[in-house]
Amino acid sequence: MQNREIRLASRPIGVPTESNFEIRQSDVPAPAEGEVLLRTLYISVDPYLRGRMREGRSYIPPFEVGQVIVSGVVAEVVESHSPLFKPGDIVMGGLLPWQLHAAVRPESLQKVDPSIAPITTALGVLGMPGLTAYFGLLDIGKPQAGETVVVSGAAGAVGTVACQIAKLKGCRVVGIAGGKEKIDYLTKELGVDTAISYKSESGHKSAAELQREVATACPKGVNVYFDNVGGEISDAVLPLITNRARIVICGLISMYNKEQLEVGLRPQPFLLINSALMQGFIVTQYALRFGEGIRQLGEWLAQGKLKYAETIVEGFENTPRAFMGLFSGENLGKQIVKVA
Ligand code: NAP
Repeated sequence: MQNREIRLASRPIGVPTESNFEIRQSDVPAPAEGEVLLRTLYISVDPYLRGRMREGRSYIPPFEVGQVIVSGVVAEVVESHSPLFKPGDIVMGGLLPWQLHAAVRPESLQKVDPSIAPITTALGVLGMPGLTAYFGLLDIGKPQAGETVVVSGAAGAVGTVACQIAKLKGCRVVGIAGGKEKIDYLTKELGVDTAISYKSESGHKSAAELQREVATACPKGVNVYFDNVGGEISDAVLPLITNRARIVICGLISMYNKEQLEVGLRPQPFLLINSALMQGFIVTQYALRFGEGIRQLGEWLAQGKLKYAETIVEGFENTPRAFMGLFSGENLGKQIVKVA
């Protein structure tokens, strides 16, 4: 049986291109004692992988050039040499290779129960992105009923969940995303109070124009800013924060393809005069509480209080393209690749 795998062919400079990836044929590995053989079903492409493609700008070691890329994967166990799993089990692993078949140690795999929700949700609303929104918003943002919460990257995997949790907590929610389809989804499907597109006919709106729109949408200012994007969008929001505001630095996708870090607004005056908190976080720091997060997200999902969107691209060979699409906003909700 032939296997295929996707390796990092070269480090992207600026926006990644197809030439940064190489698809190779290989043999299906034979699982060793204690290992399981997986058949990949769905691959998660995530913005943070861009940081791993360069040296020195991620919180985990960079991929080596020539290395098979790893990310979140949902797979079926086809052969097991471990008591932990049996053939037919559906599993999720956060760091599994972009391969059709992979032989791995099973200790870090989690069983996925298809009776709870579609198995793709283990990569989205009931997986890492959902947990990121849950802990980032609730633990750092601490939204209180009646407060105004602004979410950037609002129509993505993390953003859609953050917007809905803020609504569940009784907040007024303003989402910022790119384009009419996403704005309509946020307001009409997710119940976001106001959604603002940062894009204009000719490109991106200026920070000043965005600031005017956010100010109109947030007449009492911004109590919580859940930031997925950074850059000029944050430059527009930060001057609007209120006393004791909480700014959650979840991600900075607008900066991931920049070779030099930009100098933008210096936010210290707004933090100082408002006694505000700005805090970054990495979701894995909440690993000991993941059970709590998954239980609560699953409960809201079952009660119909939490909705989710997925954009599914078909075909293993389209994984790099799906990844690249994150940077031009091709996805609504979680971007996933269907492999089998
Ligand atoms: P996502 O939001 O589903 O996909 C990325 C989205 O970013 C795109 O759909 C696009 O939407 C937007 N985007 C791309 N380039 C942009 C730009 N230059 N300016 C403004 N928006 C841009 O991805 P995700 O997985 O949910 O991740 C969202 C953010 O959270 C990322 O920054 C990611 O790194 C971060 N994150 C952090 C953690 C953590 O532990 N801290 C964990 C997971 C994710 P538009 O069409 O709206 O532009």
